[in-house]
Amino acid sequence: MHEQLHEYVGVIHIHSTYSDGSRPIPEIAAIASEVELDFLMFTDHNTLQPKRDGLEGWYGNVLVAVGYEINDKDDLNHYLAFNVSEEVSPSDKPEIYVRKVEEQGGFGIIAHPDEKRKAMEQYPAYPWTLWESGYFHGIEIWNQMSEWLEGLTHTNKYWRVFNPRRAIINPMPETLKRWDEVNRERPVVGIGGVDAHGHIYKLWGLFRITIFRYKVLFKTIRTHILTESALSGETDPQGDIKSLYDSLLDCRCFISNFYCGDARGFRFWAENNTDKVQLGGKLKFEPNTHFHVNLPHTAKAVLICNGDRIDTRLGTELIFEARRPGLYRIEVYVSDRPWIFSNHIRLS
Ligand SMILES: [Zn+2]
Ligand SMILES: [Zn+2]
Repeated sequence: MHEQLHEYVGVIHIHSTYSDGSRPIPEIAAIASEVELDFLMFTDHNTLQPKRDGLEGWYGNVLVAVGYEINDKDDLNHYLAFNVSEEVSPSDKPEIYVRKVEEQGGFGIIAHPDEKRKAMEQYPAYPWTLWESGYFHGIEIWNQMSEWLEGLTHTNKYWRVFNPRRAIINPMPETLKRWDEVNRERPVVGIGGVDAHGHIYKLWGLFRITIFRYKVLFKTIRTHILTESALSGETDPQGDIKSLYDSLLDCRCFISNFYCGDARGFRFWAENNTDKVQLGGKLKFEPNTHFHVNLPHTAKAVLICNGDRIDTRLGTELIFEARRPGLYRIEVYVSDRPWIFSNHIRLS
């Protein structure tokens, strides 16, 4: 089953001129095409206007999907909502908008959940505070902009401005821990976000510099979605968007940092004498159950079980023995730098 999965590589969490981004959607799609991305998922602040304006669809070989980013009146609890057609009320509390997204048949991903920075007043933290809500579907386990800001201080800001990609190292450990924990209750997809704005910052008095150009950001945190059938490529954009969304909800995706290499071709599956499942799947544990990891080039894969690192292998075609039921995922490192994070496989 699922022998032939189709891989689509894209960027999630992008702002355009519909909110505080610096470029219009068609221009951003053209930039994505230059760096060979297959899809973009836009999330302008508090507006679905680009969807109403008919901007979803194929732009050459790039598929554009439009959701939006909701925040509460204190500018906390940022939530990426997709497959919705109506904005929630700006006065809604997070417990209300999380439920409303679900009721509209949409799905929501908690954005940059564990921010706590305090170093620079002008860049406050926007954490998630409402973990009791049972209605969220995903967590942004790695957010480029969030990580960049989180480590920003008065002393390192110039280095970070000129090295936006080198400054991106790893997801926050507390976010990964929480993601593993909630997944023990139910499947919650982990995605990577970029939070791309193409911002222009005023650094030294009047001197302005565009940092975080979309093209640079598109070469950082990517989400790779695996679909069971190929996208139409043109004839059925809405069906194609649905297919990406369905795969996300099935947790059939992984996250990579392109700075460490192109992760296209990574695969993680489990099999035994009875069945075989891909990442996102569930398999009954029995003797002779193994995990397989394929890597596009030699790197170190770490097998995580219920949040703990239990085994490590170096190579390109790796096999791990499964010794007990649990919630498993893979992290891949290049020279000790995090490269790939898979979603989970459950052995019950
Ligand atoms: Zn946000
Ligand atoms: Zn954002």
